[in-house]
Amino acid sequence: MSTVGRENLVGIDLGTTFSVIAHLNAQGTATVIPNSDAEPLTPSAIYLEGNTAIVGQAAREAAASGSGDVAMFVKRELGRPVFSRALGGRQYRPETLSAIVLRKLKQDAERHIGPIHKAVITVPAFFDDTRRKATQDAGRIAGLEVLDIINEPTAAALSYAAEGAGATGKLIDIPGGQMTVLVYDLGGGTFDVTVVKLADKHFETIATDGAVKLGGKDWDDKVVEYVAQEFRQQFNANPLDDEQRRDVLAAQAEKAKRVLSRGLPSATIECFHEGHNLKVKLTREKFEKLTEGLLSHTHIVTDLVLQQAKLTWNQVDRILLVGGSTKMQMVPAMLQNISGKKPDNSLDPDQVVARGAAIHAGILAARGNAGELVLDDGALEELGKIVVGNVNAYSLGVAALKEDKVAKKRWRVNDILIPKNTRLPASFSRIYPLDRAGVSSVKVPILEGEAPNAEDNITIGECVISDLPPNLPARSPIQVRLHYDGSGRISVMALDMTGGRLAQVEIKREYGLTEADIERERAFVDSLTIQ
Ligand code: ADP
Ligand code: MG
Repeated sequence: MSTVGRENLVGIDLGTTFSVIAHLNAQGTATVIPNSDAEPLTPSAIYLEGNTAIVGQAAREAAASGSGDVAMFVKRELGRPVFSRALGGRQYRPETLSAIVLRKLKQDAERHIGPIHKAVITVPAFFDDTRRKATQDAGRIAGLEVLDIINEPTAAALSYAAEGAGATGKLIDIPGGQMTVLVYDLGGGTFDVTVVKLADKHFETIATDGAVKLGGKDWDDKVVEYVAQEFRQQFNANPLDDEQRRDVLAAQAEKAKRVLSRGLPSATIECFHEGHNLKVKLTREKFEKLTEGLLSHTHIVTDLVLQQAKLTWNQVDRILLVGGSTKMQMVPAMLQNISGKKPDNSLDPDQVVARGAAIHAGILAARGNAGELVLDDGALEELGKIVVGNVNAYSLGVAALKEDKVAKKRWRVNDILIPKNTRLPASFSRIYPLDRAGVSSVKVPILEGEAPNAEDNITIGECVISDLPPNLPARSPIQVRLHYDGSGRISVMALDMTGGRLAQVEIKREYGLTEADIERERAFVDSLTIQ
């Protein structure tokens, strides 16, 4: 459908393994836009050579055939200062590599729907502030205005409710008006479980948890290790000593996994190294045995989230499968076993998130938060009624000094201001006395995490309050207010209570990008030919 003259609304699932872009038409229907290979899923793999970046399946194949200059699983490293593998002898930031993937998606989609300027991008629910900021920055480096960052399980639930409404003619309809959904999302590199309550047009996240490094890749790695071990036993040589050999083996393990998912009893993996050749037969039993620990990790997290939501399986109406790895038969089998319910995979598990993100773009547009009006009246009215509620995945606190006068000990504790699973947006303030007279600035370390000792948590940055009025006496009260917005980004405000003046505050993140960095990286990405 042509939308010439109208601003395009898109949602992007920037995945660890695959990325997907979906478009919302004027009637409020979300559709995935195929890439230049006519595929809905674009592998998040980047091959960089000179001024050319090859993104997607071709890059993935380059890695599978042993080229070392391919970046994959970049999402696992978002928030770090540089990506772990140098490409063509150069190091890149994870944000820049992610931006190249976004540019590819944008470029391919524009061939179908015309110019794209704005997008909603999804993140795992447990992404912390640093990773959310990195995702937003990646969008900006790609030249996109990031309308919002939305949690993947929420997007999946939105998409699910919209799809289920098909017959009623309404955009979003919940059968019976109310429903509790458990979203189990096992992708390529990350895992999360979220309980979402749907009531009328309200989507309320109740609890969420996950693991940053648990996904299909770990299933592949178990197979890789197994094959390497067999190889070592036979030939006394280790194929994993060679990074490129490892990539080749990983690609084969991934293929074998898909063969087993199709219901075949075994798959064969071939390994060549130092003139030797070994064929290993991987049976389903062996595969399930090797990866049993990973599956039970997801089981433990699922139980934990139910507990945090204060629910029993009886109170869960639907289990929604999201992520390509839920296609492994062991996943629905385990869930059915522990819940007594059949999980729902009626929607394409690897496309629901992008479609939900596009619907979210529509919700923002209906509220007038996406610029120019782009929806028909009916869609506008329906989408305008939807409310999405979120919770924070980590407790937010500050490092406060604690003193034990008897034991003569001083240490820093995690003074939690906004506990985990609080409904967002949320704010909390606390008053801190200045420790010295006449200072012009103070620093308050901000922590994310649950551990009682400050040092066992992640310091997301320092809240720096500067430009305080001159000559403030010691112990002058400064009120610090931490705020989580609806999409999980953190901001701070500080008030000098003596003068009643708002102080200049910023969060200094150790590895965060500055505006100048973003400009520079954008110029670099602009200079690339992306294929
Ligand atoms: P992400 O959100 O991490 O980008 P996806 O949700 O697309 O990724 O899931 C990708 C993962 O799903 C990969 O590890 C891939 O190997 C796995 N996967 C995809 N299809 C299948 C299948 N048919 N059987 C088993 N695993 C699959
Ligand atoms: Mg995903």
